[in-house]
Amino acid sequence: MDTQMLIGSRFEAGTETEEHILNPKTGETVLNLPEASLSQIDIAVDAAEKAFTSWSQTTPAQRSTYLLKIADAIEKDAEGFATLEALNCGKPINAVLNDEIPAIVDCYRFFAGAVRNLHGPVAGEYLPGHTSMIRRDPIGIVGSIAPWNYPLMMMAWKLAPAIAGGNTVIFKPSEQTPLTALKMAKLLSDILPEGVVNVILGRGESVGNALINHPKISMVSITGDVATGKKVLQAAAKTVKRTHLELGGKAPVIVFDDADIDAVVAGIRTFGYYNAGQDCTAACRIYADAKVYDNFVADLTSAVSSIKFNLGDDTENEIGPLISKRQRDRVESFVTRAAEHKHMEITTGGKTSGDRGCFYAPTVVAGATQDDEIVRREVFGPVVSVTRFTSADDAVAWANDSDYGLASSVWTKDISRGMQTAARLQYGCTWINTHFMLVNEMPHGGLKQSGYGKDMSVYAIEDYTAVRHVMINHG
Ligand code: NAD
Repeated sequence: MDTQMLIGSRFEAGTETEEHILNPKTGETVLNLPEASLSQIDIAVDAAEKAFTSWSQTTPAQRSTYLLKIADAIEKDAEGFATLEALNCGKPINAVLNDEIPAIVDCYRFFAGAVRNLHGPVAGEYLPGHTSMIRRDPIGIVGSIAPWNYPLMMMAWKLAPAIAGGNTVIFKPSEQTPLTALKMAKLLSDILPEGVVNVILGRGESVGNALINHPKISMVSITGDVATGKKVLQAAAKTVKRTHLELGGKAPVIVFDDADIDAVVAGIRTFGYYNAGQDCTAACRIYADAKVYDNFVADLTSAVSSIKFNLGDDTENEIGPLISKRQRDRVESFVTRAAEHKHMEITTGGKTSGDRGCFYAPTVVAGATQDDEIVRREVFGPVVSVTRFTSADDAVAWANDSDYGLASSVWTKDISRGMQTAARLQYGCTWINTHFMLVNEMPHGGLKQSGYGKDMSVYAIEDYTAVRHVMINHG
């Protein structure tokens, strides 16, 4: 197992506080990893600064070739990466191998192509005797900070557009899930020039805080909690850094009376509980038309109670545990508080599972109303609430009545109704008759307190590059 950080071309261990890296399936410590010191962070930033001089001058075609090599190398070692990710996150190995790794490989390949196809306004004489042109240039050193729910995928979403755009990167994985980032560090050092990507370890309040305040870092890209995003903004104000914030979500799902209920149930069973609901787009806040509500809740309850988890044969498991006991206790406390209210009913789940590890049973909370905590706050666990509506206007108003604005979905057989509702929703993404489906060609990112800036798609390259105007006076 790779356990050392990548600083320039050197692999070295951190010298500060040790973090226990856990196996969430058992709760046991896999290993202890010390975090980076402030001087190690400075050395990594200096390496990134030095590398920027030449990396920023490479052609898109050269950077594309590197990205394709990275994609090939991950694909070649897919099982190694999947095994490690499954160990560190508790994910079922098949989910990593069959769903996540192909999307990660495709992410690097997408940006390898996209960076060679950037578009902009036409160069020309907008002032007589002067020719103007637009450039898209790298920003500098990007401090990239990732969460624990999809460690390898978040690394891909952050690294690929940043290095495609000609930037250099200091990458910090979540202190809870650094293992695949360390394996990637080895892979990247074999492929990329020294210092283009540096991988350092540590907690948010220490190493993360040092990165977001570092004077030589020009941009901070973070995926995490809203509260963390606000800290990034406060720090960024001091040196006017660029920021790219992918924060939480609380995705509404509007189920109209003409929806294909079997399809909705199958969809929520998958998209509400994938990754044990630790997903910022999880289909977790359902508004169902009163005409179909009772049947829908009954069918959903039965479908969710059949989700396979915590089985000895991991190939049978559809979802894994929560990332930590702390996260499991947090999820449990949301459900306990919901159950204290008479108008809500826990129709399935509502309990921890097994005597070791961090498992929580897939849960449905029916009868929730708009003001309930379970409808308003991000649970980040395998818990879906269902709320009854009688007017479509109420459903849209309630869906929009949220601090979050990342993802949403509408289920109806009437495509006009679907399109009209999608147009009224204030979310970075609205799916019609599906949920959760992402493709590297399309952007992912939020509105409101879900943050701003796009992952995936050409919009991500735009976020990781600066638009510049060059004008020539030719008399
Ligand atoms: P978190 O905010 O606690 O941590 C995210 C990262 O930020 C970690 O690497 C952490 O070390 C770092 N961090 C924490 N405090 C910091 C500080 N003061 N300064 C600098 N860095 C700091 O979030 P988490 O618990 O790891 O992840 C779960 C959250 O991430 C959820 O809210 C979820 O919705 C969100 N998320 C959002 C998206 C999206 O695309 N919008 C995707 C995945 C996860």
